Amino acid sequence: MTDLLTYDTLLTGVYAKLPKKKARADRFEIPIADSIVIGIRTTIKNFDAICAYLRRQPADVAKYFFKELAVPGVIEGPRLVLAGKFSNRAINERLAGFVRERVLCKECGKPDTELTQIDRNLYSLKCEACGAKATVRV
Ligand SMILES: [Zn+2]
Repeated sequence: MTDLLTYDTLLTGVYAKLPKKKARADRFEIPIADSIVIGIRTTIKNFDAICAYLRRQPADVAKYFFKELAVPGVIEGPRLVLAGKFSNRAINERLAGFVRERVLCKECGKPDTELTQIDRNLYSLKCEACGAKATVRV
């Protein structure tokens, strides 16, 4: 009995240490970027919220925008500032592209994936739902 209790306690301790996988309470939807053009720049105001929802590093998401839109930019606090004028539609099309390419599982289509950089231009996309792995070339 004592052994069993100890085992249980150990087990609880082990589980407590595992990273918690956040199950999505709601159905996944591609987030909508709230962008505004000021002068010759475009600012995505809810950039941090988008990255948090997609569970992606802001730097990785930003890089995608820089490449797709062929402009430099900078992350300023919760915002992403792009050095160019882009319509809200253009921004959201790129965001949808990012989600399709680097968030959704290629096998089951679920968004619960982990993106890890494995080389300069290579990421691995691992699905927590079905276990499928894909490589993403950037
Ligand atoms: Zn999957």
